Amino acid sequence: MLILHCPHCDRMVDETDLHAGGEAHVKRFGPGSQAEEFENYLFMRENPKGVHFERWRHVYGCGKWFLAARNTATLEVYGTYSAQTTEPPQAIRDAISAKQPGWSWGTFQ
Ligand SMILES: [Zn+2]
Repeated sequence: MLILHCPHCDRMVDETDLHAGGEAHVKRFGPGSQAEEFENYLFMRENPKGVHFERWRHVYGCGKWFLAARNTATLEVYGTYSAQTTEPPQAIRDAISAKQPGWSWGTFQ
């Protein structure tokens, strides 16, 4: 079972109290953008085997959204953080790099 730390209410929460919101850090394209950019925003996702950044909502708790960094192959959770960020915090990136040598933010995009 997936257990994540909610950074808003500071509780460890199992997946039955959460709702998945898809990939995190997706760059939005709106009016005035090219059709291909908007199409990529709507439909294209990384879906990696390995490090992945996801949006989660603590739906049966505080109700707030947060982001999680985890490994889809090993199910290891590197950390959770506020959804009000455009990039993972340095502490999360350092935790991932310690476990996944050679990994760096942005290499998967
Ligand atoms: Zn919460």
